[in-house]
Amino acid sequence: MYWFWDSTYILVVLGALVCALASFNVSSTYKKYGNFLNSRGLTAEAVAKQILNGAGIFDVKIETVKGSLTDHYSPKEKVLRLSQTIYGSTSVAAIGVAAHECGHAIQHNVGYFPLKLRSASVPLANFGSIIYWPLIIFGLILGYTGLAQAGILFFLFVVFFQLITLPVEFNASRRAIQILSEEGILFDEELSGAKKVLSAAAMTYVAALFSSILQLLRLVLLANRGNRRR
Ligand SMILES: [Zn+2]
Repeated sequence: MYWFWDSTYILVVLGALVCALASFNVSSTYKKYGNFLNSRGLTAEAVAKQILNGAGIFDVKIETVKGSLTDHYSPKEKVLRLSQTIYGSTSVAAIGVAAHECGHAIQHNVGYFPLKLRSASVPLANFGSIIYWPLIIFGLILGYTGLAQAGILFFLFVVFFQLITLPVEFNASRRAIQILSEEGILFDEELSGAKKVLSAAAMTYVAALFSSILQLLRLVLLANRGNRRR
């Protein structure tokens, strides 16, 4: 399959490189602030409970989940899951992550529109991510431009999903930092540490979108080339 290795492949490599850099940045930032303990000695789990209750949310369960940085909020189950390394930790990094997940629970509670839109677009984005590549490959092999264009259209759903993820993630972090500051959970220097961890995490979503846009560009180039060849 010659187009796997043609010149447009450089776009895929570039995207992967940006994602790897963002992910490295998260690990190293987390490592740094994972050793910075908050002066009040609060655990991430206690802070999560305090934030949820403070926002009038009493029906969200807090659980632990295996893995590292696997923390998430599940709107469907109304469960906030903190990874084992975060749950009992008193580091400002762990507090920041827990507060961020609370931010998602609050978004869900107040009906934050981008979160609704994001949840609604999950099935289409998942389907798009499975179907786009076969459509493009068969479109190019068989010389059906329409098929390749349909593949690009399906890939647009994936890009849209990543785009709508950005306001959801940035907003959750903004809410987190605001609450941590207003409720006096973290103090100045601690707060700036938590902020750095959350900013690094947010950059991974920006990197993912950037690499998908490069992939989109590549698909358009490939489809046009297939067009010209016939
Ligand atoms: Zn998030």
